[in-house]
Amino acid sequence: MKRIPHFLEINRPSILPLIAAILAIAIFILDTVTDLEIAAAVFYVAVVLMSVSFCQKRGVMLVGAACIALAILSYFLTRSGSPEAGLINCVISISAITATTYLVLKIDSARVAVYEARAQLAHIARVTALGELTASIAHEVNQPLAAVVTNGNAGLRWLTNQPPNVEKTKQTLERIVREANRASEIVGRIRNLAKKTGPQNERFNFNETVLETIALMLSEIQRNHVSLQTELQDDLPLVFGDRIQLQQVVLNLLVNAVEAMAMMEEGPHNLLVSTTNDNTRTVLFAVHDTGTGLEPDKLNRLFDAFYTTKLEGMGMGLAISRSIVEAHGGRIWATQNERRGAIFQFELPIRRAGMP
Ligand code: ADP
Repeated sequence: MKRIPHFLEINRPSILPLIAAILAIAIFILDTVTDLEIAAAVFYVAVVLMSVSFCQKRGVMLVGAACIALAILSYFLTRSGSPEAGLINCVISISAITATTYLVLKIDSARVAVYEARAQLAHIARVTALGELTASIAHEVNQPLAAVVTNGNAGLRWLTNQPPNVEKTKQTLERIVREANRASEIVGRIRNLAKKTGPQNERFNFNETVLETIALMLSEIQRNHVSLQTELQDDLPLVFGDRIQLQQVVLNLLVNAVEAMAMMEEGPHNLLVSTTNDNTRTVLFAVHDTGTGLEPDKLNRLFDAFYTTKLEGMGMGLAISRSIVEAHGGRIWATQNERRGAIFQFELPIRRAGMP
């Protein structure tokens, strides 16, 4: 059984193995000393079920085997009752433990398959979203490259002056290095988003992720005459989870907001992006736009897979966003903006100090 790092798992109490061990011992004692002709060892299935939460595939099989061994041992240690009934009870218990172990392993492999399919879909959606931003990204990279060329030419001129102006040449070279670094940062961000990685759990600065995503969208924002306002809370606690996946959610919401405003020829194109931590238990991310807005009767369908109102839409962005946010123990929702447009928000729980 491959361990899927479910983000909720980090809250799982570590005393579960202890409880399972105590339960197994209690069942063993009950099964050995009881005079009643009942298959008490059947309760070992509870131990096997518990073991899924803290063991990998081999561990669950070992727990199943240990439970079977305990059931057989208590059959031989039991002095009272009829040996035939005891044997039948022992066989029933062993069958129940074996069947439970097998089913538990099967269910978990199915869970792994679903998780992997979702991760692949998320990756495809991410690359598709980046594809949609190609023109904007190319423009974003082109700007520093053009600046490198301009400064390079200026530097050459300062050098060929008589006498060569070393100070001015130095300044142009510094500008070249700065612009080249900017281009390489943009390429780095795209590469990060496009790369296929397994789930990466880490604590990270969510505001930085939001700003990086906005940086990828800047040309798109300008091209659509959108005026952007950011209200990012300064002392936002670190968020725990998969940075790239959460960045994908931010990207989806921003792309949707800009697209919804691009469809409106009249009126303001105002985009407000904010992060807050008002209730101290969660980090809240919100995107307010003044786009087409949401029809009240469609609100509950927005996050369904393949729901789209766009000619070339896939209808997967919000569905994937919801599954990513929920896998992080959070929730995502949409409401109509006061005057016009929509508000999309998601909140993520904060893990407090002392937690793993
Ligand atoms: P797609 O963008 O491919 O249509 P999504 O799942 O991202 O898929 O969005 C589903 C639908 O939700 C969109 O087609 C659109 O009708 C609606 N929607 C999403 N974001 C907004 C928004 N900011 N304003 C208005 N409608 C939106």
